Amino acid sequence: MSETIDTLLQEDRIFPPSEAFKANANLNDPAIYGQADADWQGWWEGWAEKLDWFEKWHTVVEWNQPYSKWFLGGKINACYNCVDRHVKNGLGNRIAWIGEGEPGDVREFTYSMVLEHVQRLANAIKSLGVGKGDRVCIYMGQGPELCLAMLACARIGAAHSVVFGGFSAQSIQERVNDAEAKLVITADGSWRRGNIIPLKQIVDSAIEMGCPSVTNVLVYERVGAPFAETMGIPAPDYNRGTWVEGRDVWWHDVVPQQSDDCPCEPMDSEDLLYILYTSGSTGKPKGIMHTTGGYLVGTSATSKCVFDYKDSDIYWCTADCGWVTGHSYVVYGPMANCVTQVLYEGSPDTPEKDRFWRTVEKHKVTILYTAPTAIRTFMKWGEEYPAACDLSSLRLLGSVGEPINPEAWMWYHRVIGGERCPIVDTWWQTETGAIMITSLPGIVPAKPGSATKVFPGVWATIYDEDGNDLVKTQGVPVGGFLVLKRPWPSMLRGIWGDQDRYVKTYWSKFSDAYFAGDGAKLDADGYFWLLGRVDDIMLVSGHNISTMEVESALVDHPKVAEAAVIGKAHDVKGQAVAAFVILKGSAEPSDELAQELKKHVATKIGALARPDDLIFSAELPKTRSGKIMRRLLRDVAEGRVLGDVTTLADPAIVQSLKCQYEDKEG
Ligand code: ATP
Ligand code: MG
Repeated sequence: MSETIDTLLQEDRIFPPSEAFKANANLNDPAIYGQADADWQGWWEGWAEKLDWFEKWHTVVEWNQPYSKWFLGGKINACYNCVDRHVKNGLGNRIAWIGEGEPGDVREFTYSMVLEHVQRLANAIKSLGVGKGDRVCIYMGQGPELCLAMLACARIGAAHSVVFGGFSAQSIQERVNDAEAKLVITADGSWRRGNIIPLKQIVDSAIEMGCPSVTNVLVYERVGAPFAETMGIPAPDYNRGTWVEGRDVWWHDVVPQQSDDCPCEPMDSEDLLYILYTSGSTGKPKGIMHTTGGYLVGTSATSKCVFDYKDSDIYWCTADCGWVTGHSYVVYGPMANCVTQVLYEGSPDTPEKDRFWRTVEKHKVTILYTAPTAIRTFMKWGEEYPAACDLSSLRLLGSVGEPINPEAWMWYHRVIGGERCPIVDTWWQTETGAIMITSLPGIVPAKPGSATKVFPGVWATIYDEDGNDLVKTQGVPVGGFLVLKRPWPSMLRGIWGDQDRYVKTYWSKFSDAYFAGDGAKLDADGYFWLLGRVDDIMLVSGHNISTMEVESALVDHPKVAEAAVIGKAHDVKGQAVAAFVILKGSAEPSDELAQELKKHVATKIGALARPDDLIFSAELPKTRSGKIMRRLLRDVAEGRVLGDVTTLADPAIVQSLKCQYEDKEG
């Protein structure tokens, strides 16, 4: 990437919070930014003081770049802070989880019930020989038991490694072996799009492939005959796997009879809380390590400030606990704040494409946190689905996972938020543990497509290739490499088993800053605009163009639902723009439309960005968390053998694009 990134997309719309929202917001004084910046250690310490510690820390932070330690000397337990203390404080009757299964079954758990269940489960896990310092792999569908399993591990000091309940046996095997997990907690299955994912059978296959560290598999019965009976549906036919005596243990055989008293292990602030493998959009997943005290401080503080929790809120984060968003903003951050939340097991189009909106209506959800990939899918399906539901309970919307295209933002704002709900676009990573760039909804006016400002206490800036701080040397507006300049409590403590990769990935490009891997620009108002991975940024005739900006220009066209753009090697220009486009429901692909779309990009952001190739497609290759995998599209466009496809949601999509592309070329 050359000095700066050309700023192409112009976005001038601005949406301040309403006076009423501002007046009631948890944070509404802009002075907070300056205060947190001037005393960032004190700012984070203030949040640490809101948690319950068995022993107080003596030092807030110790920073030996690239390693940080937070709240040294402190003793704390994450489960205690998410469950026990609320019950002790008289909030035991508050609903923690409204667990909605895909078939429509709903189970509510109060915080007192969570406390009881988590203690029994923790005792059961202990009885299987797991203790402090061990690792446990969790492979389940989204729902109360998955959260219970995470909390039970945290309670006894075993680190969890959640593997998304949809990954292949090979992905489980790799992750189990990398972490040397002793125990796998799974279910007989989980519901997805009306079908059963045979989780236990997939775990069996993983173990058959070789998982020498695993001594037991604890199996929760989710989809079997008893469930069918309560639902009054025929017992489902699915692959139950093979029961291995001595290894496999039914949850219902060992958990309910345990004592409901299991004291929390006092953990050192820096003890490992969990390992989580990244999404794998850019390559082989990394086992990111998070520790206890700092992580809990970062997630609880950001949850409270960004989502503006009130006692009356019903919060719904649609992310699965297989991703970091489910760790930080389903389990630890929200539960540390004693929030009531919806946990939904299944897909957004079962039984109909209105499932999300029916769910919002049914449970009167007030805060909804979802991903741009979902929003673009809803745009493609059409407004009639949300329009038929009562979404008036919503008061705040959030977005995470990818840059949100301005048009998708506007749709979210208008169709879902009824033009009344602030939108928080939150930039962060598995590695950062908690939100780093976001608006505080009661303070910062939103601009569609911008993640806006740093979270108080965080210091982000823009570097050039040589590590110059462009904000200092050139001022704003400016574009380049996004870096974080000072440590934050929830930062990763490294990559499990591979500290060299940790140093190499995040700390070798620049000598004095954490390199996030993303490009960004900072506008004249000090707003950050995320431009995607720097590896994805195109160099066309000497100009750096962000894939995200061209994608947003395409999505701006009324017939386009979604687009992925890449730079393809070109003899003259260096790189040429290639675009893969998904049309909205009623639009038909044609050569004329392809020409029209290319022209639309040229008018919207300049001739330089006009795509050379434009392919219509029904789907795009995505990770299971819904992120577009541009590296595979580059392989397609440049006629290479496809790279690592193990984290793809549907490998058939990229194969069919490859054929389509080759046909066109040939
Ligand atoms: P891997 O690191 O294995 O390639 P990944 O980076 O996709 O996988 P995650 O940690 O889940 O794994 O994703 C973090 C990345 O997601 C960020 O680096 C950024 O590129 C993108 N991202 C997340 N939230 C936003 C946002 N609000 N705006 C723009 N980009 C975002
Ligand atoms: Mg990443």
